[in-house]
Amino acid sequence: MQIQYAERIRTLPPYLFAAIDQMKREALQKGADLIDLSIGDPDIPTPKHIVEAMKKAVEKAEHHRYPSYEGMLSYREAVARWYKRRFNVDLNPENEVLSLIGSKEGIGHIPLAFIDPGEIVLVPSPGYPVYPVGTKFAGGIPYFMPLREENNFLPELKAIPEDICKKAKLMFINYPNNPTSAEAPKEFFQEVIEFAKKYNIIICHDAAYSEIYYEEKPISFLEFEGAKEVGIEFHSLSKTYNMTGWRIGYAVGNKEILVGLGKVKTNLDSGVFQAIQEASIVALDTEDNILREIRDIYRQRRDILYEGLKAKGFEVKKSNATFYLWVKVPRGTNSIDFAGKLLKEAEVLCTPGVGFGEYGEGYIRFALTQSKDRIKEAVDRIGRIRL
Ligand SMILES: *Cc1c(COP(=O)(O)O)cnc(C)c1O
Repeated sequence: MQIQYAERIRTLPPYLFAAIDQMKREALQKGADLIDLSIGDPDIPTPKHIVEAMKKAVEKAEHHRYPSYEGMLSYREAVARWYKRRFNVDLNPENEVLSLIGSKEGIGHIPLAFIDPGEIVLVPSPGYPVYPVGTKFAGGIPYFMPLREENNFLPELKAIPEDICKKAKLMFINYPNNPTSAEAPKEFFQEVIEFAKKYNIIICHDAAYSEIYYEEKPISFLEFEGAKEVGIEFHSLSKTYNMTGWRIGYAVGNKEILVGLGKVKTNLDSGVFQAIQEASIVALDTEDNILREIRDIYRQRRDILYEGLKAKGFEVKKSNATFYLWVKVPRGTNSIDFAGKLLKEAEVLCTPGVGFGEYGEGYIRFALTQSKDRIKEAVDRIGRIRL
C-alpha cells in the first residue's frame, strides 16, 4: 500500500533547519559540550506549591473522569480574578473564559471556527509558526504583516492593501513578542481596535509572555475600550509559572468568538485534566515574590548575554520582556549560515530568524533558558570566534 499524505501536510512550510540539525547531531556524536539557547521552554521547574497542589488533586477520583468542555467554573473564576487583579479587566467566568489544552491548541484551532477556504488571515512575520499553519489547516490564506525594527516590530496596519483588509477575517498579534521581544504601546492596541471595527476583523492577541518582564508591566489588549467587541486574548500558564509540560491555557474576551472556538473544541478534544485545572487555580493565585524571583533569574541571564554580545560588536535589542534576545547577524551573512557558524565554532545553538518567517531573516534568537554559568560560557566562546 502506498501511504499518501494530505495536501495540508505536504504543503507545510519547508523545514529550514535540517542542515543545523545535522550539524547538531554530529557535534553531539563527537561529544561536544553544546550550549542550547534555541528553546523557548523554561529550564526552571514549576514552583513547589503548584506541584504540591497537583499531588493532592490527582488523588481525587472526581478528577479521573472526563472534564467539562469549557473548563471547571472554579478555574474560569480564578482566571477572571487574575485578569481583574493584573489588568483591571472584568471577565464573566461563565462565558468570557474558555480553558485550553495550552494556548497553542486554541491558536491552532481558532481558524477552523471562522475561516472558510480562501479567506485571509493577517499574520505577523516574524511570528509564532502556529498562526500561519493553523490558518492553512483551515484552508485560509495567511497574509504576512512584516514586523520591522524601524516600526518597533509592530505591524504597519496602514501599509496593508485595502483589498486585503476587506477580505481579511482574522488577525493574530502577539505582545510581548516572540521572537523580537518587542512590546506594544497602548496606542497600537487602540489602532488595532479601530482597524478591526472598520474592516470587521476578529483580533486574536497572544499574550503568552505578559508576565515575563523586566521593566514596566506589559499591558493586555482587553484593557482598551472596544477590545471585547472585536477580539479575544490567548493566555497560558506555560511561561508565567514554568508549566509548559502541563498543557493548560485559556482564551478570554468576546463571548461569541469563544463560542466558535468552543464548538471546534467540543468536537475535537475533551478538555483539560481537572487535576491540572485545580493546580492551576493555585498557580494563578501565586504570590508575586515567587514570580519576582523567576524574573530576576531571567534578568541576570539577559544582562550577561546582552552585555557579552554587545561587547563583541553585535547589534542586540535589550529585551524588556520575554526570555529572548533578538540579535542582528553580521553583514554579509544570513540567519541560517550564521547560526551554523555559532554552532560549529562556539558550540552555541540559537534559532535562525528566518524560521519565524521571511521577515525574520537577518536575525537570530537566543532563549535565556540556560543557567547563568552556561550563558557566561556561551558569551566567552562567542567572544573567541572570528566574525
Ligand atoms: C510558548 C508560546 C505559546 C504557547 O504556549 P502553550 O504552552 O501552548 O500555552 C503561545 N504563543 C507564543 C508566542 C509562545 O511563544
